[in-house]
Formats: sequence, structure tokens, C-alpha cells
Amino acid sequence: MLMGLALLAGTAQQAPPPSALASAPAVAPGRIQASGLAVLLPSGAATSSDGAATPSDGSGGPPASGPESPDCSKLKCVALTMDDGPVPQTAKLLKLLRKEHAHATFFVVGMNAKRHPAIVRQMVADGNAVGNHSWDHPQFWKVSKKKIRQELARTDKLLKKLTGSRPVLVRAPFGEVDARVRAITKSRGQVLVQWSVDPVDWRDRNPKLVTKRILKQARRNSIILSHDIRPTTRKAYAGIIRGLKARGFTLVTVPELLGVHAKPGHLYFHG
Ligand SMILES: [Zn+2]
Repeated sequence: MLMGLALLAGTAQQAPPPSALASAPAVAPGRIQASGLAVLLPSGAATSSDGAATPSDGSGGPPASGPESPDCSKLKCVALTMDDGPVPQTAKLLKLLRKEHAHATFFVVGMNAKRHPAIVRQMVADGNAVGNHSWDHPQFWKVSKKKIRQELARTDKLLKKLTGSRPVLVRAPFGEVDARVRAITKSRGQVLVQWSVDPVDWRDRNPKLVTKRILKQARRNSIILSHDIRPTTRKAYAGIIRGLKARGFTLVTVPELLGVHAKPGHLYFHG
């Protein structure tokens, strides 16, 4: 699905945190991989091992907009993303998603994924997408390029082991993206995912408020930020998911929302 697929760095209404250095969008050279996002789908085949970008050889499994994927050019899609886990309670959240026939995208922290491998496997088995949110959530702008690469590589390696596919989606800790992060993810063939809806659930630990903000701000093709490590947010998910559905939204994964043409190293705020 390509409608509205746009690189919005510098133009998004919902700006990333002030310290983010995202500005001029990099021009994507011929590194765009039709197979790239497909590897995140449950049926997607594994691509390269940990490390360099995957060549565009079409071996990454079915496209993200395959026959069984929701067609976001026709449907009112939104992508709910859940960061910083998994925690043991994430399993209950997966149950809720199954019950509601909804899919989400989990930006997992490597060290937490290592503690809860079965939950990560279940995420993918259920049709959710899993992205790389670093190994231990450092402030990327304070560490070296080498450290950023290590953080991504270590988490990629673990996720590939757990899910069979190297993650293509990356969300930088705190959403902090500078030129180095862009260059590194681009070279790794990975797509940077920001958000267009932020309920500020890390600060305002109030389920009703978080639900209200999400339902009020959600638009077609929104990428919604949330944190499944927060007990108050977990309390809110049932109402959020049902509320979005009641408003006619189909809850899809980020790969389903962006389609197959998402570009490595680019920042996506919505589909
Ligand atoms: Zn985070």
C-alpha cells in the first residue's frame, strides 16, 4: 500500500523530541528492497544473517501487501506500536490482540527479549511485527557510532534467532535520530520508524488520559507510540484497541502500513 507513504522528516506535525536531529531527508539510492519489509511478516523467509543490508534479490518472502495482508489503500489503517518490552505481562497483551483480531508492532529492547524469548516468538507467531529498539536503550547521541552499530547488531542477531528473520524496522531509543543513526540504519538496510500519535504515556501514567489522547489523535495511517512496559498503558490497551476499531480503524503492523517501498535510513512518521 503506497497511499500517503511519505517521508515527513521536518514536516510532521508531531515532531520528534527536541534533541532529535532529524532534518533533511537523505536521498535513497538503489538500496530499496522490495523484500525488506516482508521479512517481518510471520511467513517471511529469513534474509541475510546479522550485519549488512540485504540485497534486493526478492528472497525475503511475500510482499508486505500480499493477498492475506490488509489493503491499507482501501482500509482505514493505523499501526499501534509498543516499545521497550517485552515484560512478562506482554503475554497477556498478546492474548488481547488475538482476541481482538488486531496486530501491533513491538519495538523490543534486546536485553528484555533475551529474558522473554517465548514472548517474542509468540509475537511473530500471532502475526505481529517485531522491530529493533537497541540492546539496552542507551541515548544514541551520547555514544559512538561503533556502539550504535553494536546495539543494533546484537539485538538483530537475537531477534533473528528467535523469529527467523532479521528485523528491518528500527526505532531509536527516545526516538532520537541524528545523521549517524540514519547512515547506520541505511547501511544495514533498516527503516527508521517514528510516530505521529504520542499519548505521552511514559509521563502521564493515567489509562483514561492515554486512551483519550490516542483515540482523539488517531488518523488514517497513523503510527501510534505506546509503551507496553507501563502498567498504566497496559491497562489502557483494551479500551484503545476497541475504541480504534469502533472508529472504523483496522489495526495493522508497520510493515503492512508502509508497504514494500519503505526506504532504509528514512524516517517514517506515518503511512
Ligand atoms: Zn524506548
